[in-house]
Amino acid sequence: MKDLMSKEKFTLISGPCSLESKNQIDKQFENNSWKYLRAGIYKLRSSPHTFQGLREEGIELISSLKKEYNFNLVTEVVSEASLEALLPVIDCIQIGTRNMYNYELLKLISKTDKHVILKRAFSATIFEWIEAAKYIKDYEDRVILCERGIRSFEASMRNTLDLNAVAFIKKNTGFSIIVDPSHASGNRYLVPDLAKASLAVGADGLLIESHHNPDESFSDAKQAISINDLENLKDELNTLSPYFNKELVY
Ligand code: PEP
Ligand code: MN
Repeated sequence: MKDLMSKEKFTLISGPCSLESKNQIDKQFENNSWKYLRAGIYKLRSSPHTFQGLREEGIELISSLKKEYNFNLVTEVVSEASLEALLPVIDCIQIGTRNMYNYELLKLISKTDKHVILKRAFSATIFEWIEAAKYIKDYEDRVILCERGIRSFEASMRNTLDLNAVAFIKKNTGFSIIVDPSHASGNRYLVPDLAKASLAVGADGLLIESHHNPDESFSDAKQAISINDLENLKDELNTLSPYFNKELVY
């Protein structure tokens, strides 16, 4: 995940909220080869009655898909058991908003040599977020912070994207930071604008939910952009990146 840690690169990581099927990933790669794929295999959902991820069943599937399409896998680790199961296939560990405060889990993943995308808890101050990152050994070389929206008084969108935090982190710390405009806004029509704003404010990349048939996504359907919209956004970011002294990696 060196691209994510490079000051000159702007890295686009995209893919479905949840891994669902082989056909889904075939469609993702139909017209493009993506260097990074995000896909939740173990899901932490607000309701126990919703899709919880393919879990163990998804490991074999993602392993054969990796061989076919040769991507780096970004996926969420939710527990010790999921870490063990994912270790053979995972390239970058995602710690979700609900687990940023799970210091015992952070200590466990610290023992691996993987890069870690540490999402900000939706209630975390910047100080709490940075302190959490320090639970990861060699955090300067391994942790990529991810701003994914915080909870505020504003209720018209899922969360409030704190671009202040991105500018603040870039100006005051050595951390790499990416932005997840999907969970921040909860609305697919807002994602491209927030993605471009993230580039402009100094972020090092993006984590975006996309799907070949967004409305049919097993999770977070409202915020998933189509593959076509992802391709258009990629082209726009490719044009814009040099103005911010960045080169798009995708
Ligand atoms: C996700 O990226 O699919 C996810 C669950 O994100 P968050 O932890 O930010 O809600
Ligand atoms: Mn999601």
